[in-house]
Amino acid sequence: MLDENNRRLRQLDTLIEMTRLINSTLDTHLVREKSIAAIMQLMDSEAASMLLLDAGTNELYFEVALGEKHNEIQSIRIEAGKGIAGHVARTGIPLIVKDAQKDDRFYPGVDETSGFKTRDILCVPIISKEQTLGVLQAINRREGEFGEEDEIILHALANQVAVAIENAALYRDSISDGLTGIYQRRYLDLRLKEEMHTAKRYQHPLSIMMLDVDHFKQVNDRYGHTSGDEVLKKVAAVMKQGTRMSDVVGRYGGEEFMIIVPFIAQRDVESLAERIRRAIAASDINGIKVTISIGVAHFDGRPGKVEYDRLLELADNALYEAKTSGRNKVAVRLPR
Ligand code: GH3
Ligand code: MG
Ligand code: MG
Repeated sequence: MLDENNRRLRQLDTLIEMTRLINSTLDTHLVREKSIAAIMQLMDSEAASMLLLDAGTNELYFEVALGEKHNEIQSIRIEAGKGIAGHVARTGIPLIVKDAQKDDRFYPGVDETSGFKTRDILCVPIISKEQTLGVLQAINRREGEFGEEDEIILHALANQVAVAIENAALYRDSISDGLTGIYQRRYLDLRLKEEMHTAKRYQHPLSIMMLDVDHFKQVNDRYGHTSGDEVLKKVAAVMKQGTRMSDVVGRYGGEEFMIIVPFIAQRDVESLAERIRRAIAASDINGIKVTISIGVAHFDGRPGKVEYDRLLELADNALYEAKTSGRNKVAVRLPR
């Protein structure tokens, strides 16, 4: 009895700790990893997983999977309705399955890939605002069987995970541009300040690029606003494709874009800008041809008194130079 009480207390502790974490961070990666660890501890299970529903294809995929085959498992997609997880995702009702291999609803595909042998499963839905986002699973209880109390606790955890997913989605929306999906100005300004701070502190290079579509007003006038929007989407896509994960790509406003490029030497930033300029000029956007002008400001990382707003000003000046010298050009400015 004392053991059982201790166990409940520990479970409560873990739940409270998870709640605190989820309310204090937007780091979904951390939340996912911690959730899996928490499930295994709370449920005393050999394995745990989180599957999320892809609303586009109506398939479940492994958001987190542990073990040496995690790469293979992460590429598995399960139709909603299929397997225990699919069943729970469709009905929204938790399930405890004692002898999984003998259960009609069990889908052996995951075990075949992972080499794991599933005996029993406790699976609960992750629901937010009456919408199923995915499921949490505890697999193979180490001792005894999964029971109703386990279900209640896993459900409580699933509710917390739903809050975390919801928070992350709201945050993502709030910093993204509605048309192009890339970052919006408010976020670019914030990141630029941060990146400038880091660049100065660790003395590494930092560049920004201001990109502006040439004669865009004419594009709108000639082809209409909707076609103009398509052009903006294409420019955003080319910028995303041409850059790395560490670059910050956003829409600064209207038909003006920005890329924050940390770590890269001046020569390489210039060739990156050139590549993007050429890619846009070579694109055919539903029969529309456009060009862009790019202003680059580069800070080489050497100690000096450069502030982020000075770098912005230089990029703006460079863009003006690219425009006045004929457009479809890249111009560069350095702080002195
Ligand atoms: P320049 O080569 O000097 O940059 O000329 P421009 O015509 O591109 O410059 P200007 O700033 O005069 O025009 C920008 C145009 O961009 C005007 C505005 O209607 C259009 N625009 C701004 N935001 C959007 C948008 O979200 N969608 C569309 N379709 N057009 C937009
Ligand atoms: Mg323009
Ligand atoms: Mg403009």
